[in-house]
Amino acid sequence: MKKSFLILFLVFVAWSSGAQIIINRDPEIKKMVEEISRERIEQNVRKLASFYTRHNMSEQNDAVKGIGAAWNWIKSEMEKSIPESDGRLKVELIDYTVGGRGQRITQETKLKNVIATLKGTDPGDDRIILISAHLDSRAALDNDNTSFAPGANDDGSGVAAILELIRIMSARKFSATIVFMTVSGEEHGLFGAKYMAAKAKEEKWNIVAMLNNDMIGNSASSETLLNDNMRVRVFSEGIPAYETEQMTASRKYTSGENDSRSRQLARYIKETGERYVEQMIVTLVYRNDRFGRGGDHTPFCQAGFTAVRVCEYNENYERTHKVPAIINGIQEGDLPEYVDYEYVRKNAGVDLATMANLALAPFEPVNCGIVVTGLTNKTTIKWETPATGVKPAGYYILMRETFQPLWEKKIFVTGNEVTIAYSKDNYFFGIQSVDVNGHESIAVFPGQTRRSPN
Ligand SMILES: [Zn+2]
Repeated sequence: MKKSFLILFLVFVAWSSGAQIIINRDPEIKKMVEEISRERIEQNVRKLASFYTRHNMSEQNDAVKGIGAAWNWIKSEMEKSIPESDGRLKVELIDYTVGGRGQRITQETKLKNVIATLKGTDPGDDRIILISAHLDSRAALDNDNTSFAPGANDDGSGVAAILELIRIMSARKFSATIVFMTVSGEEHGLFGAKYMAAKAKEEKWNIVAMLNNDMIGNSASSETLLNDNMRVRVFSEGIPAYETEQMTASRKYTSGENDSRSRQLARYIKETGERYVEQMIVTLVYRNDRFGRGGDHTPFCQAGFTAVRVCEYNENYERTHKVPAIINGIQEGDLPEYVDYEYVRKNAGVDLATMANLALAPFEPVNCGIVVTGLTNKTTIKWETPATGVKPAGYYILMRETFQPLWEKKIFVTGNEVTIAYSKDNYFFGIQSVDVNGHESIAVFPGQTRRSPN
């Protein structure tokens, strides 16, 4: 116990000095990250490509070809981890119906999502951490359901990473529940994710984080010929797609337009991912997604959940959504031989570290507020201890100057109130719960308060 508190103290010293960062890793999370196998990821990607096409209107009843063979194989791979989980892992196919005359999917089609749920060990912990990738692929034309569409990177890389995470994480225990989601319907309008977001909203899932992994295996750009497998993007919305009137008012009052919950998650991924994965920089992109492109996190944002997209830094447009062929001496198409498997391994590590750290962490502090009554050059912040989950050993007060994109200082405190000698007018603040082993919750951006919340 004493030793752990000492570790927290050292973290504070390091961050406040600004000169050095002490990296403290949970040995168990470190071990899990090291277990991620590049070879297995490659095998998974090659297997997914072997279904020839995973187009949403492709064959569903062939044993080796088409989207049906793909979702059956994914399900059977996920099920291999059930014994290791002592029965906590549940795998299911979830059906939904899309399409019809005049629509992008031209006739009514029943599609399936494959979902694996690793139940949390604490019955009082209802948090869900969700990771997603899409299992469908496409060729150049929307309705070309017969051409070779290997979809190795888009999004075989994301699905392969998820299968590897299930294998490793199912053998471990986490307080919160982890949902591993592979969805269909993405390439024709995010249908599988829309269905899941609506279901989650309807069933009131307490999703604290959703990580959409879509294209995490290409490290070389077309045209500009960049090569970099040390950098991954996390896209996050600024002003949330979903806001109540009260949320809008609070955002305007606190100037919180760069502090949405999704953005706090993005900052969390950067801090945690870089803590555990060596030779990796998580680059935060302060927009929801790329221009003219969609992703499965978006329906979750629209439903009011905290969701981001994890995506390669460099894209290759000769390989995306193209039928494999050699055109003007250039090999087009999304083939397995062009996936950088070491890069996928590292990106899967960023995911794993983030999810594990969060699933072991306490709940976020509640009713967080900055006291705005009275004129003072100091700042008083108050919050309440979360009622459920792991008991926090304390809290980190995060701060940064208002023009800075990332948190700059981290101060460890105990209790439910702190006054520090920095003016609330000149800084943004955040609050994280932290347990005795250093697992942090996502930061909460405090609202204004005129009274003690206690
Ligand atoms: Zn995709």
